[in-house]
Amino acid sequence: MDGKPDHPRTVAAANGVADGDRFGAVAPPLYLTSTFAFLAYGTTTGYDYSRTANPTRDLLADTLARLEGGAGAVVTCSGMAAIDLVLARLPQDAFVVAPHDCYAGTRRLLLARSARGSFETAFIDQGDAGAISRALERAPSLVLVETPSNPLMRIVDIQAIAAQARSAGARVAVDNTFLSPALQQPIRLGADYVIHSTTKYLNGHSDVVGGAVIAADAAEAEALAHWANVTGVIGAPFDAYMTLRGVRSLFPRVAQQQANAMAVARFLRAQPQVAAVYYPGLPEHPGHDLAARQQQGFGAMLSFELRGGTSVVRRFVEATRIFTLAESLGGVESLIAHPVTMTHASMDADALRRAGIGEGLLRLSVGLEAEGDLIADLTRALAASGQTG
Ligand SMILES: *Cc1c(COP(=O)(O)O)cnc(C)c1O
Repeated sequence: MDGKPDHPRTVAAANGVADGDRFGAVAPPLYLTSTFAFLAYGTTTGYDYSRTANPTRDLLADTLARLEGGAGAVVTCSGMAAIDLVLARLPQDAFVVAPHDCYAGTRRLLLARSARGSFETAFIDQGDAGAISRALERAPSLVLVETPSNPLMRIVDIQAIAAQARSAGARVAVDNTFLSPALQQPIRLGADYVIHSTTKYLNGHSDVVGGAVIAADAAEAEALAHWANVTGVIGAPFDAYMTLRGVRSLFPRVAQQQANAMAVARFLRAQPQVAAVYYPGLPEHPGHDLAARQQQGFGAMLSFELRGGTSVVRRFVEATRIFTLAESLGGVESLIAHPVTMTHASMDADALRRAGIGEGLLRLSVGLEAEGDLIADLTRALAASGQTG
């Protein structure tokens, strides 16, 4: 550290700014190079080849590690690569515990690797203390946590799960994609790893696919970096540059987006065509108190149940103009998704039913647009979806 203040907002805005570049560049340069000249026989600048290390990617990793309160971070080419990197650290014959309502891609990865015999996975309801205790009796190596969950925004207690897992000898990885370090820091709550799809809030502009793993422990961070070099799942320097540019405005983006989300949630809750709204910021949400304790805000993701079945859902999503029908989340623009036909289409009917994901469920990623325009858009879609024909 060079004596600069390191409040997280300062880290996000300024880590690496005006950092001794020979031309005085304020914005940290993009090192778009695959290889680095040796200073002399047997002597490098500290960099030799960009799969192993690259200054642009390292600056993003350092920024993310500081934001999450970790000892180090590895930047990967996608969120899925970040999860797989953590799985690469599992011992032989490992047992992994994952949430029954985890991100569908995570579920697919765990099932595919389990089917090949890499390890065994149990998907459990992590809001059920009994289910967690029973799973921990089987001595898992890793407990994967996702809170808030997708798409129902269920909240689980990271601190309680981490404490229980630790005494059972398991490591805990928390996928913090839905909140970002602006609103939740799992390492401070006892997690060993934080996983991100930086594609979402950290980059925040829907123009990069990337991921990261942040480790609480320095030796573990090094082991992850070693594996990322071995398997080559590293993030590209250009993507790292773009993502760092997004991180600069993380805090104000998230603050404004969650204010919009609260307004949208309150609006939807008052509509007769809406059977339920799932947003932890609403006092009636079952995870509200825990979220208020564990998070620094309620985030900008929510979902809601529309009455009337498939034809109503179809008319609704075809009538919005500001909410774009698209997967992904966390960008400056508002998106709407229908989990059953989009993000969660790979789940079978039984798994969908157990996760509580119905035909009428719609998920919103609330962006930075004017609150009044967002509500007008939903008002228009509700009117259009109610018409028959
Ligand atoms: C998007 C997402 C992922 C996967 O990340 P990619 O960048 O798409 O590979 C993992 N977990 C969560 C919670 C996500 O939203």
